[in-house]
Amino acid sequence: MLSREVKKRRTFGIISHPDAGKTTLTEKLLLFGGAIQKAGTVKRNKAEKTATSDFMEIEKQRGISVATSVMGFEYLDHKINILDTPGHKDFAEDTYRTLTAVDSVILVVDSVKGVEEQTRKLMQVCRMRHTPVIIFINKMDREGKEHLDLLDELESELNISVRPLSWPIGIGSTFKGVYHLHKQKLNLYSPNKKSISDDYIPIEDLADSKLEEHLGEKAATTLRDEVELVDTVYEPFDISLYRSGYLAPVFFGSAINNFGVQELLETFIEIAPEPQARSTDTRLVDPYESKFTGFVFKIHANLDPKHRDRIAFCRICSGKFERNTFYHHVRLDKKLKFASPTSFMADNKSVVEEAWPGDVIGLYDSGNFKIGDTLTEGEIMNFVGIPSFSPEIFKELENTDPFKTKQLEKGITQLSDEGVAQLFTQNPGNRKIIGTVGELQFEVIQFRLLQEYGASCRFISMSTSKANWVSSDDPEALKKFLHSHASKVAYDKEDRPVFLAGSQWDIDYALTNYPKISFHETSEWD
Ligand code: GDP
Repeated sequence: MLSREVKKRRTFGIISHPDAGKTTLTEKLLLFGGAIQKAGTVKRNKAEKTATSDFMEIEKQRGISVATSVMGFEYLDHKINILDTPGHKDFAEDTYRTLTAVDSVILVVDSVKGVEEQTRKLMQVCRMRHTPVIIFINKMDREGKEHLDLLDELESELNISVRPLSWPIGIGSTFKGVYHLHKQKLNLYSPNKKSISDDYIPIEDLADSKLEEHLGEKAATTLRDEVELVDTVYEPFDISLYRSGYLAPVFFGSAINNFGVQELLETFIEIAPEPQARSTDTRLVDPYESKFTGFVFKIHANLDPKHRDRIAFCRICSGKFERNTFYHHVRLDKKLKFASPTSFMADNKSVVEEAWPGDVIGLYDSGNFKIGDTLTEGEIMNFVGIPSFSPEIFKELENTDPFKTKQLEKGITQLSDEGVAQLFTQNPGNRKIIGTVGELQFEVIQFRLLQEYGASCRFISMSTSKANWVSSDDPEALKKFLHSHASKVAYDKEDRPVFLAGSQWDIDYALTNYPKISFHETSEWD
């Protein structure tokens, strides 16, 4: 039973620079998968587009997006779990963490804009983790970049080899369809195409005159020439290179017109990896192990201030999870059971009795969880690979209501457990430094501290722009470094020392002068 359930699961994240068409594609995948009946069901995760001053609206929308942040559906005997990610850079931390809970990724790229800032950053995270990536080039109905140029751009800018598995015929106003190189069939484009596989024209031999019949002389010749070129330029598709994160297969289409989505989905379930083994601080955990294990990668606050409870998103790594069964919360050394574990589907959610490796469930929590927490059947181990990344903006937190010090302490600790921002302390806890990737979070923190904890604060700008975790094989050297840089050293929530640097130059300088000290961009290193 366990083995069957593991084999049928595909858990992936969908990522893109804002506006490339991630939401549209997600919705179309659900539509093709039969999970929703009509377009418009998936609420737009549009928090990212609102102006900074609208952070209230953003929080509200974040609430809506809880339902859409994990979506499961069945397709051709597979259980597909899509993990949505916010595209906006202010929520990049959220996205990085979500990527720790997936086995592969679909990256959406706009054919007109090509590789954009967030595309680059997100791919960097995928490469670091060797996550297999499929690229979907969207908006082929618009006058985008030339196909081969776009592929070259992907390779050079994203630092990954690519291999087209479908090939577009024309572009923008001359866009006629795509040829599925992998399955050797032709899919002709019509706007707002309803699907479905009957519309495909099998063409096993490109020399077949059927091609002229459907495309006309000129487009048929161009397609033959281009396919020949593609087969000379690119090596045949090697699934093991894809699975190890070195090669990204590429599909072309237009999500809004339901075009190219079916090819993507069909090929995805064929090539994308099933739930993979995951590392802990003691050993590798295989999904086929009979005992349940899982970890929390995302926490979402309840927006209703009357209910302090939160939802912790837990990725199941091995065994079978069951409702109302006691599990071991490793960090707290505590037994917990869950009366209403939840699974999410487009616009609704339901209580689940059981869940399997690869699944993500929502656990209602009143403050037991923080990001990275491990649940087991009793074994003492912690999943690793859920690092914190260096924030980019740092501000000192100042308490403006001395009567509410306790509330402020509690509030800021809980908000950082949720991953809204990172908290660093100096002078045994007296000085609190908040690190984020976007300005937006400061407004959110200030607002939530007041609303939910009755605490008021203000932020004081700092010249710090980078935090590097420091370590050394030589404890004496580390002690000396920390001592001599006391004003630039703070401690994260795990009490690990970090070096607060004004710029990369400060780090390079320290690297040269303190050869025994190692500096790390993330909180986990080898
Ligand atoms: P996200 O920010 O990545 O989630 O992007 P959305 O899915 O919200 O899409 C951004 C905009 O691009 C919306 O106005 C969509 O209607 C539009 N869009 C999405 N797919 C296509 C496409 O295939 N062709 C065209 N022309 N527009 C598209």
